[in-house]
Amino acid sequence: MANSVRVRFAPSPTGPLHIGGVRTALYNYLYARKHNGKFVLRIEDTDQKRSVDRAEEYIQSCLAWLGIEPDESPTHPGNFGPYRQSERRDVYQKYILKLVKSGLAYYAFDTAESLEKHRKNHEKNGKTFIYNWHNRMKLNNSLVLGEKKTKEKLDDEHPYVVRFLMWDEKGSSIYNCPDSVRGNVAIDCKLLDDKILYKSDGMPTYHFANVVDDHLMEISHVIRGEEWLPSLALHLKLYNAFGWTPPDFAHLPLILKPSGKGKLSKRDGDKLGFPVFPIQWEGGITGYKEEGYLPEAVLNFLALLGWNDGGENEIFSLEELISLFDLKRVHHAGARFDPEKNKWFNQQHVQRLSVSDFSRLCNAVIESHGFVVHDENKLNSIAMMIQPRIVLTTGLWRELVIFFERPKSYDEKALKKVWKGKTKSLLLSVVDILPQESEVSIDLLKNAMKKIAEDSGLSLGALMGPLRVVIVGSLSGPDLFLLIKTLGTREVIKRIQFALRAIK
Ligand code: GLU
Repeated sequence: MANSVRVRFAPSPTGPLHIGGVRTALYNYLYARKHNGKFVLRIEDTDQKRSVDRAEEYIQSCLAWLGIEPDESPTHPGNFGPYRQSERRDVYQKYILKLVKSGLAYYAFDTAESLEKHRKNHEKNGKTFIYNWHNRMKLNNSLVLGEKKTKEKLDDEHPYVVRFLMWDEKGSSIYNCPDSVRGNVAIDCKLLDDKILYKSDGMPTYHFANVVDDHLMEISHVIRGEEWLPSLALHLKLYNAFGWTPPDFAHLPLILKPSGKGKLSKRDGDKLGFPVFPIQWEGGITGYKEEGYLPEAVLNFLALLGWNDGGENEIFSLEELISLFDLKRVHHAGARFDPEKNKWFNQQHVQRLSVSDFSRLCNAVIESHGFVVHDENKLNSIAMMIQPRIVLTTGLWRELVIFFERPKSYDEKALKKVWKGKTKSLLLSVVDILPQESEVSIDLLKNAMKKIAEDSGLSLGALMGPLRVVIVGSLSGPDLFLLIKTLGTREVIKRIQFALRAIK
């Protein structure tokens, strides 16, 4: 147990998992795998008002799609459960009592109204009301009331909260917090409030549940977003208060908007037209999956948002990321999100797919359009022809369709460019000369086309342009000879005849 690595991803299920959260999950996953440790998913649902029903399932589906599934989770528990905080109330109650007994936390009975009054009065004088060392002895809490009166109030079931005694004017208020990414972070506890840890409804707050659970679940490294850095002093002091050894902390840099100031928000995706979620969420919000990204590409670009291996290479498989990942190389500065570059990452990963993997992708799309390719060789050759042309998998059908459907129309611009006086007779010669056999060689096709062009005193290009338009419908597409070979000469002849009737 002692030195084993156990890390956790601890999302609050308040909505879909934003790409920033996915990066946190990924870094935890990479760290666990690299050190033969365990990756734990803990659902932090103590704030029941903010919890969204489908969010937990969504989080699990995202991790599954990306292939970074936890070793322990609510649906796949290990020895440290339950893995949902809402199911751990008894645990928190036990530990809060311990803390109060030790004098490091106290009951506070201040009503919402009285606190609001204090806040307003402070505001009037241009100050901020902070419940802490400088006023706690003037407020309504067990430190002021003493043991007997406090007990009476508790017996009378007065609503209360438990607050942490953040700093008591003894010794320096500066707390040095070690962080693997930033080194030492000095936090002045004098400026912090006595955080609420627990409420009389039996629910802990995030800070308390988080620390208790990280300890009980034997978490060795807490890897999480920078937004939690200001809470680090509180968390470390809580460990101290219990006499527990804290885990190592690593706070990951912010992910910044594609341009301008500020961190990437859920709304930026909508505004700027790129996904910020891994998979589809309610209300038709699409994710990277539906937008045609491969999970390995998403993992790759996320891994590089705040980390690099120090080399020039940017394209990594998950296995490579696991072996290279190092918390020491996580950056301090915010990482700029670049949706255009993400497309490039995807293109690179599509090109890296093996023929069989890419063929499988193609086949799924082909079948979803109601076609079947019985011949595996044919499927593979189609796949190989279009693979270099694919950036997003949503573009697959656009490239595949020419193998299954005749053009429904012919690109006007292309026609204008290539359709000349002799075109029709050239194409008729192709119909005449093409053998009707199902198997023809590329060489045979090339020689035949060259001969037709030569006989008319034209270049091969004068024939290939129009031929491509009548077969494909435009001037784009893969190598024409390969295409003719794959389609078969009979189909090509039909397409030519069809086009000659259609194009006036
Ligand atoms: N529940 C917190 C969140 O959703 C977890 C923060 C942490 O990892 O400590 O961000």
